[in-house]
Amino acid sequence: MSFTVIDNPHTAPTPLFIAPRSVETGNAIALLTDRQFHVAGQNAQSEAPLIQTNFGGAILVGDDAVTKVAGIRAANPDLPLIVEPRSLRKHLATDTQPFQLTAATLSEDLDQQRVYSDLAITPTGQIKPGDSDALKAALREVNKLGRTDTMFAIPAYAGWLSDEQYVKQLIAVINRSDHPVLLTFIHGHNPVESVKRARAYRRVFQETTVPVVAHRADLIGFDALAHGAIASAIGSYPSTRRLNPFDHHGGPVGDRENLSPHMLLTDMLRIVRSTHMRREWFASATPIQCFCVICRGADVDRLHEDPAERRTGHNHNVVNLDGLYSSYVGLGTAARRTLWASQVAGALDTYPQLEAHIGRSLRVDPILQNVWAKAS
Ligand SMILES: [Zn+2]
Repeated sequence: MSFTVIDNPHTAPTPLFIAPRSVETGNAIALLTDRQFHVAGQNAQSEAPLIQTNFGGAILVGDDAVTKVAGIRAANPDLPLIVEPRSLRKHLATDTQPFQLTAATLSEDLDQQRVYSDLAITPTGQIKPGDSDALKAALREVNKLGRTDTMFAIPAYAGWLSDEQYVKQLIAVINRSDHPVLLTFIHGHNPVESVKRARAYRRVFQETTVPVVAHRADLIGFDALAHGAIASAIGSYPSTRRLNPFDHHGGPVGDRENLSPHMLLTDMLRIVRSTHMRREWFASATPIQCFCVICRGADVDRLHEDPAERRTGHNHNVVNLDGLYSSYVGLGTAARRTLWASQVAGALDTYPQLEAHIGRSLRVDPILQNVWAKAS
C-alpha cells in the first residue's frame, strides 16, 4: 500500500533484483532503453540521489544545468545525466536557422556537449505550428551527422497536435530521422490539455517507427511508453513538464499558496496541487497519507509554498515515479500496453473510493477517461 483511502493494485511498485548497470555513455539506444528519465531543474541536486540508477536517469534543464552537471555527476557517478540545450527554451527555429549553435558547426556543438553530457541533443529551436520548412531544415542537417550519441530534438508548439495535417507531417518527419528523436511540446500552461491533443499525442507514438522519447511529459509519458515510445522524461514540477514559448514571461503569482507542490498520486495516475487537496478534498475529511520513503506516513496534502516544503513534494514525485515505472522494466510494447490498461482501469476505480471517503462526487480526469482508458 502506498496511500491510505485510494488503492490501485496495478500501480504498486515491483521489487527489482537486477544487476547493477553501468552508464551507457555515448550510446543513445542502449542508454535510453529501460530507463525512466526525470526532468530535473532547480531541485536537481536533491533529486539525483533518489533516482534508481539501474532503470533511471536525469535530463538536466535550465540556465545553470551546464554548471551544475559536474557536481551532480561526482555525487552520483552511476546515474546517466543528459543536459538539455538552451535552444529548446530560448530559440525560435527558422528554415535558415533551425539551430542555436554554441560552436562553429553542429558537429562541434554536439562534441562540446559530450564533454559533460552522456548523450548529445541537437540544439534545435522551437518550431511554430505547421512550420514544416523549419522542421525539415533541421532534419536535413541532423541526418548528415550519422552519430550514435545524439538525439534529434523536436521542440514543437502544442498547436502541432491540434491539426490532422500537422500531426501527419510531424510523424512523417520523425520517420525520416536517422537518430532517436527527443519530442517535446511548447505551451505556456499545459501542452496536452485537451482530449483531442492527447489522442494526437498517442497517435504520434503509435505511428512512428523511429525511437522517440516523450520529453517534458506528465503521466501521459506512460501512455506514450505503452504505444511505442522508447522512454519518457517526466518532471517533478509543472514547468519541467512542458516547454514555455521562447518569448514567454512569467506573470506575478496571485496566490502564494498555489506554489505548494503538485503531488503525484500514482494510484490515481494523477498529479494534484496540494492546495486543491487541502481546500477541495480534505477540508472536512482525513487527508490521504503517503507511505513513500519521503513522506513516511504523513498527510499527502501537508506541504506549502516555502522552498524546503516544495523540495519535499518534488522528491516524493521522483520516488513515486520510479515506483510506477518499476513494473515496466524489461517489458515489450504489447506487455506495456496491457500493464497500462490495467493501471488505467485501477485509476478509474480510485474515484469511487475517494468519493466515498470525502462524501461527494468528483470529476474524473477527462484524458484518463476518454483517451487513456480507450484502446486504439
Ligand atoms: Zn510520499
